[in-house]
Amino acid sequence: MKGRVTQGTDVTADVIETCDVCVIGSGAGGGTLAAELVARGLDVVMLEAGGYHTRRDFDLHEETAFPMLYQGRGTRATSDLAISILQGRSVGGSTTINWTTCFRTPERILKHWETHHGIEGLDSQTLTPHWEAVEARLNIHQWPREMANANNRKLLEGCEALGWEAAPLRRNVKGCANSGFCGMGCPVDGKQGQHVTTIPDAIDGGMRLYSDVEVRRLIHDGRRISEVRGVVMERGRDRDTAHSVVVRSKVVALCGGAINNPLLLLRSELNPNGRVGKRTFLHPVIAASGVYEETISPYFGAPQSIGSHQFIDRGPGKVGYFFEAAPMHPMLTASAAGVVGAQLDELMRSLPHISGLIALHVDGLLPGDEGGTVSLRSDGRPDIAYPVRPLLVEAMRESHLNLTRVHLAAGAREVGTLHTKPLRIRSETDLHLLETAEYGAMKHAIFTAHQMGGCAMGSDSTTSVVDANHRHHTVHNLYVVDGSVLPTALGVNPSHTIYGLARRASDIVAQAV
Ligand SMILES: Cc1cc2nc3c(=O)[nH]c(=O)nc-3n(C[C@H](O)[C@H](O)[C@H](O)COP(=O)(O)OP(=O)(O)OC[C@H]3O[C@@H](n4cnc5c(N)ncnc54)[C@H](O)[C@@H]3O)c2cc1C
Ligand code: SF4
Repeated sequence: MKGRVTQGTDVTADVIETCDVCVIGSGAGGGTLAAELVARGLDVVMLEAGGYHTRRDFDLHEETAFPMLYQGRGTRATSDLAISILQGRSVGGSTTINWTTCFRTPERILKHWETHHGIEGLDSQTLTPHWEAVEARLNIHQWPREMANANNRKLLEGCEALGWEAAPLRRNVKGCANSGFCGMGCPVDGKQGQHVTTIPDAIDGGMRLYSDVEVRRLIHDGRRISEVRGVVMERGRDRDTAHSVVVRSKVVALCGGAINNPLLLLRSELNPNGRVGKRTFLHPVIAASGVYEETISPYFGAPQSIGSHQFIDRGPGKVGYFFEAAPMHPMLTASAAGVVGAQLDELMRSLPHISGLIALHVDGLLPGDEGGTVSLRSDGRPDIAYPVRPLLVEAMRESHLNLTRVHLAAGAREVGTLHTKPLRIRSETDLHLLETAEYGAMKHAIFTAHQMGGCAMGSDSTTSVVDANHRHHTVHNLYVVDGSVLPTALGVNPSHTIYGLARRASDIVAQAV
C-alpha cells in the first residue's frame, strides 16, 4: 500500500498514529533507515520539523533557500557567535542542501573508535556491503577531474605545484547539470539527496510522512518510550499551530541529527548519565580567498570536486586537517567574511575572480578534545558552546598558512584572510604576516557544515549515550541513528558514514520491533 505525505497545512485536527517504528527526522540517517525498514514490511511513521519541498520550490536564490531549508533560517551559531553553523531543516534534512561529497569512513577512524570508545563490530568489512548498496542507490561515483570548476581546479593546481596530494571527489549525483546550486536545493533533482531517493522509496512502500511537525517531547518511564509528541508548525513563521501529532510506536528511532537530538532528549528529561549534548564535533572550518586575474566564478559548477588529505595526520598531539573548496555565493560569502561597508563592496566586486578554499579540522581524536556541548536554555533554544582550544588554534594557524601557499602556487595575485582585520598576502615574503596573526574564536570567521556527536556511541554507559547497536543505554525501545552518534569527527565529509551506519542499524531496529 502506498503511504502519504501530510504537510502542516493539511492537518486540521489533532492526529494520533500507531505504528511499528516512529522515525524522527528525515535526513541522511532517517531517510536511509526508514526506506530499509519499510522494505522489510514494517509500518513506519516519519515526523520532520522542516517543510516538504521539491525542485519546483528551489529558485536558486539564497534569500529563498536559507529561511526555507536551514536551521534557524541560516543563522544558527555557537552561543558566543564565533562559529556559524550551516545545518539543514526540511524533508531530506541536510542532504537536501549539502554539497554531495561522499567518502566511506576511514579505517583509522573505525579503529580509533574500537580502541578508545569500545565500539566493536564496526569495521570496514561489516560496513562495506552497506556502503555498496548506498552507493548504488544514490549513484555515488567519482566526478570527472576535467569537470572540476575553476574554484576546485585551483586546489588541484596549487597542491600539484607544491607536491601535495589532491584528488577528485566522489559525489551522489545523477544527471547533475554542474550548476553549482547544491546549497539552495537542486533544481533538476540531479543531487541524490534523501528527499528524491530513500524517502520516496519509503512512501511508495507505505510510510506516512508528516512534514512541519517538530517533536517536542518523548513520554517515557525511564525504560521505555510510550509516546512521541509533536507540534504542527506554521511554515515560514516557525510558530506553533494549535494542532499536535502523537505517535505510539513499538520502537522510536531518533534521527534529528547533532544539536537537535540532544535538545529533544534534554526537553524530555532523558539524560540519565549527564552525557547528552557532550562530545559535539564540528570539523571547524577556516577559509582563504585567492584573487586571480582570470575569471573563477566560484558560484558556478559542482561545489566540491577536489580534496586534499595531505595534512590529515600531523603526528601525535596535533589536530589534523583537510582541504576542500567552498561554493562562494554572495550571501554565504558576505556572511562568512563578516566585513561591512567599503570592504564588503570590494569583496563583492572581486567575487568573480575569487577562489574560496577551506581547511576542515578534525576534532575529537586527541585526549582531552571533548569538542563542544549542547544544552537547553530556559526558553527552549539551544545553547551551543564550543571552546576553540589551543591545539585547534595551532592547527588553524598552520592550515591557513598552507591554504595560502596553495593559492600562491596556483597563481593567485593576492590571498585574503577572513580576520576581523583582513590580511593580504601577495607573495611568499608576506607569509610572516600569518605567523604573527591572531587565531581563535572571534579573531576570524569560523564555520561548520558538519555537525557530529552529542549522543555519542560507546560501550561505557557512563561516558556515552547509545551502544554500538545504536540502542540507548537505558531506554530499551529508543535507537539513535544519525550523525549525532559519532564519537569523534571523521576527517572526511560525514554523509556516507551516516548512510552506511543507518543501513546497518536497520537490521537491528527491525529486530527490536
Ligand atoms: C551546506 C552543507 C553542505 C554539506 N556538504 C556535505 C558534503 O558535501 N558531503 C557530506 O558528506 N556532508 C555534507 N554536509 C553534511 C551532511 O549533509 C550531514 O552531516 C548529514 O546530512 C547529517 O545527517 P543526519 O541524519 O545526522 O541529520 P540531517 O541530515 O541534518 O537530518 C536531520 C533532520 O531531522 C530534523 N529534525 C531535527 N529535530 C527534529 C525534531 N525534534 N522533530 C522533527 N524533526 C527534527 C531536521 O529538521 C532535519 O531535517 C553538508 C551540510 C550542509 C549544511
Ligand atoms: S551542481 Fe548538480 S547536483 Fe548540485 S544543484 Fe547543480 S545540478 Fe544539482
